Amino acid sequence: MEDCIFCKIIEGKIPCAKVYEDNKVIGFLDISPNNKGHCLIVPKQHSTNLLDMEEEDLEATMKAARKVAQAVSKSINPDFNIIINNGKSAGQLVFHSHMHIIPRFDNDGLKFDTRHMKYAESEMQEYAEKIRNHIQ
Ligand code: AMP
Ligand code: ZN
Repeated sequence: MEDCIFCKIIEGKIPCAKVYEDNKVIGFLDISPNNKGHCLIVPKQHSTNLLDMEEEDLEATMKAARKVAQAVSKSINPDFNIIINNGKSAGQLVFHSHMHIIPRFDNDGLKFDTRHMKYAESEMQEYAEKIRNHIQ
């Protein structure tokens, strides 16, 4: 893909701090980390997000994510978040599928759970049904 920064990294046209590579996936440090050691796991085949990724890329990416997470856990700190920002409203900035592995430390101040909502009566069942009806 032209003009895709992650495709350029995969092609070696832009440098990265590589931590992992196999024939389907590359892993490198996020240039602007939430904590030091924050890694990105990126399938080599371009897709924009989780929903248009080939199943085999998804499988390879998840396996690579666990390998890198294991290494982060051993080398930096045992705890980590694995995050996918899927779509603009979810904070996706680079539209080439990827997963974040973010090392976590006690009281590091990083917050994702900024609020929690309450369902009105019966609403929870309605939402569950809406989603269940679209499982393919
Ligand atoms: P997202 O919000 O999930 O799309 O995250 C994209 C991430 O890519 C951000 O955390 C950026 O800091 C990171 N990023 C953007 N350009 C580069 C780059 N050239 N090398 C490493 N990480 C990058
Ligand atoms: Zn791309």
